[in-house]
Amino acid sequence: MLISIDTLRADHLGSYGYERDTSPRLDAFAAEATRFARAYAASYHTADSHMSVFTALHPSVHGVRNTRSASEARPLTAAVVTLPERLAAGGLRTFGYHAGGNVSPAYGFGRGFEEYRGTGSEVQPAIDRLADLASRPAERFFLFFHTYRPHDPYLPAAPYNELWEKEYAGPVLGSQEAFDAQLAEGEDFAEKRRLFWSRIDPEVPADLRKAIALYDGEIRQTDDEIGRLLDQIDRMPQRILVAVMSDHGEEFHEHGRFLHDQLYDEVLHVPLMIRHPDRVLAGQVVDAPVGLVALAPTLLDLAGVQGFEAPQAASLRALMEGGAPAAPAPVLAEKIVTLEEDGATPRLHHRALISRHLKLLSLGQRGELLFDLELDPREREDLAAIRPDDRVRLAGALARIAARNDQRRLELRDRDAPGRTEIDAEMVEQLKALGYL
Ligand SMILES: [Zn+2]
Repeated sequence: MLISIDTLRADHLGSYGYERDTSPRLDAFAAEATRFARAYAASYHTADSHMSVFTALHPSVHGVRNTRSASEARPLTAAVVTLPERLAAGGLRTFGYHAGGNVSPAYGFGRGFEEYRGTGSEVQPAIDRLADLASRPAERFFLFFHTYRPHDPYLPAAPYNELWEKEYAGPVLGSQEAFDAQLAEGEDFAEKRRLFWSRIDPEVPADLRKAIALYDGEIRQTDDEIGRLLDQIDRMPQRILVAVMSDHGEEFHEHGRFLHDQLYDEVLHVPLMIRHPDRVLAGQVVDAPVGLVALAPTLLDLAGVQGFEAPQAASLRALMEGGAPAAPAPVLAEKIVTLEEDGATPRLHHRALISRHLKLLSLGQRGELLFDLELDPREREDLAAIRPDDRVRLAGALARIAARNDQRRLELRDRDAPGRTEIDAEMVEQLKALGYL
C-alpha cells in the first residue's frame, strides 16, 4: 500500500519536529514505522516526482513532466517498466485511486493497474476497495492512494481553517464560503489559484502567518482522512506493508517565492515512512539522506517481487534494518525548466545534490550554491566561495551523475524506437495484404 500526500513538506509534521499538532495520526503511524528523517523528492513537480517513484528513474531519464493539462501530457516510454506493472507481474492485484491532474493516466501512471480511477482526493473509494478485498484474505494486492488535499489554494473545511491564527482579520480568504463569495461562476483552477494568492502579501507578516496556518489546517484535515484509511487497513485480515510519502513540499517565501518552484529543502524534503505488517522496526529512524527514487526498489524488495532491471537507486531495506552503507550514495533532485525541440532533452536544468550534510544547488547559468544542512538547515548561507574544495567535489559528482543520466535517456530512446519500427513493419504488411502497397 502506497499513500502519496501531495505537497506535504516534512517539517510541518509533528514526527518531523513541527511545533503545531498538525499530524496526530501520521505521528502515531511513524511510531509504528521506519521514519526516514531526510527523504528527498526527485523533483519539485507532481508528474516528474511521482514518475520517479513509479520507475526508480530520475526525471531527466524517464522524461515525464508536469503539463498545464493532461491533454498535453507526454506519456512514459514503453521501454520503462513501472512499479504497478512489476507488482502485477508478481501476482498482486493492483488498484490506484488518484486525484487527477498531473498523476492522470495520460502520463502513464495507470499502467499495470487493474483499476486506476480519479477519485478527487476522497478516501472513501479506497476504503471501499479495501473492505471488498478484506473478504478475500488469500489475495495479495497493491493499493496506491493519492490526495491533493494540502495543495493550494489552502481552503480547509471548518473547523480546520480556524485551528491556528483564528484572530486574523486581514484580506487572506480563510474559508471556502469567503472564497466562493469572491469567485465568479465556472472559473477554472488557474483562476481560483490566482484569486487566492492575490490576497496574500508576503511582506505582511500576518498574511504570511495566516497562509501557513491554512496550509497547516489542510494537513490536519488530511491527517484525519488518512486516519480513516489507516483504520480500515488495521481491520484487514491481510498483512499489509504501508508506505507514506509526498512528492514535494511547499514554499512560504523562505527563499522569496510561494508554492513549489525551487530546489530548497522546503520543497525537496518530504516525509517517508514505511510500516512493516508485523510492526518490526517500529519507531526506527533513518538519518541518512535518501531519495524517493529508491522507494519502488524498496517496496519490491519487501514484497518479495522481482525488482527492476536497472533502477537508479538501491532498496533501502538494509538501511531500515540498521545497516549503514560504507559510502552512502548522494541524492539527486532535478528541476527541468525548458526542453530542447526534441521534447526530451533538458535545456535549462537546475539540480540539487545532497551528500551527507552538504547540498550543492546548481542553477545553470546562475551558478552554484553550497549549503551545510547540519549547521544551516534553512539554507541561508551560501558556502560556495568559502569552501571551494567541497563545491568542486560535489560539482564533479553531479556532472558524473548528469552524464550517466544523459546516457540512460538516450538508451531508453533507442530501445523505444525499435518498438515503433516493428509496428511500422507490421503496418506495411497489413497495407500490402490490403493491396495498398
Ligand atoms: Zn505534487
